[in-house]
Amino acid sequence: MLAVEDLLRDNAFINGHWVSADSGNRFEVTNPADGSLLTSVPDLGPNDTLAAIEAASSAFREWRTTAPSTRARLLRRWHELIRANEKDLALLMTLEQGKPIREARAEIRYAAAFVNWFAEEAARTYGDVIPSNASDKRIMVLKQPVGVVAAITPWNFPAAMITRKVAPALAVGCTVIIKPSEFTPLSALALARLAEDAGFPNGVLNVLTTMDAASVGDELMAHADVRKISFTGSTRVGKLLLRGAADTVKRVSLELGGNAPFIVFPDADLEAAVQGAVAAKYRNAGQTCICANRMLVHEDVAEEFAVRLTAKTSRLKVGPGVDDDTDVGPLINEAALEKVESLVADAASEGAEIRTGGVRHAYGRTFYEPTLISGVRDEMSVSSEEIFGPVSAISTFRDEDEVIARANNTPYGLAAYVFTRDHGRVWRVPEALEYGMVGVNTGVISNPVAPFGGVKQSGIGREGSRYGVDEYLEMKTVTVGGL
Ligand code: ADP
Repeated sequence: MLAVEDLLRDNAFINGHWVSADSGNRFEVTNPADGSLLTSVPDLGPNDTLAAIEAASSAFREWRTTAPSTRARLLRRWHELIRANEKDLALLMTLEQGKPIREARAEIRYAAAFVNWFAEEAARTYGDVIPSNASDKRIMVLKQPVGVVAAITPWNFPAAMITRKVAPALAVGCTVIIKPSEFTPLSALALARLAEDAGFPNGVLNVLTTMDAASVGDELMAHADVRKISFTGSTRVGKLLLRGAADTVKRVSLELGGNAPFIVFPDADLEAAVQGAVAAKYRNAGQTCICANRMLVHEDVAEEFAVRLTAKTSRLKVGPGVDDDTDVGPLINEAALEKVESLVADAASEGAEIRTGGVRHAYGRTFYEPTLISGVRDEMSVSSEEIFGPVSAISTFRDEDEVIARANNTPYGLAAYVFTRDHGRVWRVPEALEYGMVGVNTGVISNPVAPFGGVKQSGIGREGSRYGVDEYLEMKTVTVGGL
């Protein structure tokens, strides 16, 4: 199946060793496209977690003092290995996660790009010298690694959400414990296998596979040696972790749910808006936290926009991710499918019009037809909840102030999209939107060089970009007196 069979790992990675669970328990990893068994991996528990924390703590003592150039060299090697194994890593991802193989390959390149970017940042964690207000004193600021980092990651981007956290952590001298999603542990283990080849010292990078995220999570949160938690996932679990971090006052970065508005003004280039909508909606079958959730289209162009987007939506090719021409793969599991179904059913029962799709796909399992509904209103659950499926939901608006207020009327604040050719609006609207990221005339906003993150209940902190390292650095003020 893979060119390098060795990348399909069936053990967890702790302290440089491939290990089974203390309990001996394992769990199965299956392919969402056909239900086939891929392999099984260890179901780790608190004892294994403790072993990983001890390994990471002990490795931190040396790793923190390695030269940045050494850490950069190892990261560059890891980057090269990820790129060299792109095909295998993408195939593994599609098999365990379901996304189209083209998207999986793009994600591997995206994931690798974080490693490369932070390899370069490793050497640039500058401190500061501050003019003192006492003539016999000097004040310096040192930047130092926070310590052991726990990275808890989701299934929708099984590789990129790992490298986006792990690469900056390693670059600045932290050690990491990765807890990947129980649905997609194989991508994490394959990345660890390549990190091992790259030559990172034992204990610097560890991967814990488990079905029982809460017990491993609780152990990570309770332990005082874990100094930082970086989480991407649901707002519900993010809040649990934030509470859990309080007892030992850990540093916390959270990248949580969203409810992205996609606003189309009457002066927009409509074709560009439709293309942007396809990109911002149907990638990963709509299962990304920055997917356009609410399409707010000016009433003068709403029908035209709906007709054009319906045509594009109905032409998307649904199928197993391994087929080269697939645009939309299966949803991750039955629960995800049922949620999408119920959101669409609720909207339809409250008067929304299903223009295409709206049903399970003939492929069965968790395949759902790319769908477009119009006549959506803000009070419908499809507007207020994160859809996380291939469903475009269009409602209309009349003026700029109204649409800004409606766009901001949510506890979330991750991504927003605006399509307009009006020069003033290009500035006014993004400034008024309470979101961490705004795409103007584009549906594609993720980039390793740009800060990624949200406001309000969408999260804390930023990942990627030159700011991404700050999440893993402490400032230390050194005041020298008696000169
Ligand atoms: P999603 O809805 O995207 O699956 P989750 O928040 O459920 O998001 O999962 C994201 C990550 O958080 C996964 O790795 C999952 O195993 C983990 N997780 C879920 N519950 C907990 C918990 N109580 N403590 C720690 N991690 C958890």
